Amino acid sequence: MMTRTELNEIISLLRTAYPGGDRCGLRFGSAVQLLVSTILSAQCTDVRVNKVTPVLFARYPDAQAFAAADIAELETLIRSCGLYRTKAANIKKCCEQLTERYGGEVPESLDELTELAGTGRKTANLVRGEWFGEPAYVIDTHVKRIWALLGISESTTPEAIEKDLRVLIPPEDPHAGDALALSHLLITHGRAVCVAGRPNCSACPIKAHCAHFAGGQT
Ligand code: SF4
Repeated sequence: MMTRTELNEIISLLRTAYPGGDRCGLRFGSAVQLLVSTILSAQCTDVRVNKVTPVLFARYPDAQAFAAADIAELETLIRSCGLYRTKAANIKKCCEQLTERYGGEVPESLDELTELAGTGRKTANLVRGEWFGEPAYVIDTHVKRIWALLGISESTTPEAIEKDLRVLIPPEDPHAGDALALSHLLITHGRAVCVAGRPNCSACPIKAHCAHFAGGQT
């Protein structure tokens, strides 16, 4: 497995290449809004989600309002984010669960979060990291792909990668926030340069640390 020192170098290079790219790109003012925005962001850009949410959150200001939403109206408001029928159903159901179980608040534990509709481990970890300030390990499709290209470890599944990242950046580490920052940076890098199937290696700020590049597979 890659050393923490080399991983730190990668994080530093990516921070320089993508100023602000180490933070969540979604705009939200509450844990419910973060949860809803994250559900909306599946297979959609943060920019698109941020265009939709001001009107959405004005119409439905809290979990109770989303739970009581007319599903057809909700679908219309989020249509441009794609997969709108599934997302609308998940948001409404998730907010019904928040209202019934937690008085409209978002729980903090991973187990409770992952029991909510539309909330997988990735979304739950993002909420824990971004809202509750917990050490969080968010492994999405970009992180998984670039992790393998860089050769950070042999792991290939999100669960195994999360485990390795916990070893490299333990929750008790004073810089444990770097784990979430790394996820955001790799997602940014995966959209900008290391695009799936056509990585622009010549323009890559971390090519010196990339096993794929070292192998001559550009
Ligand atoms: S060198 Fe190429 S494959 Fe490696 S991280 Fe950069 S863009 Fe991706």
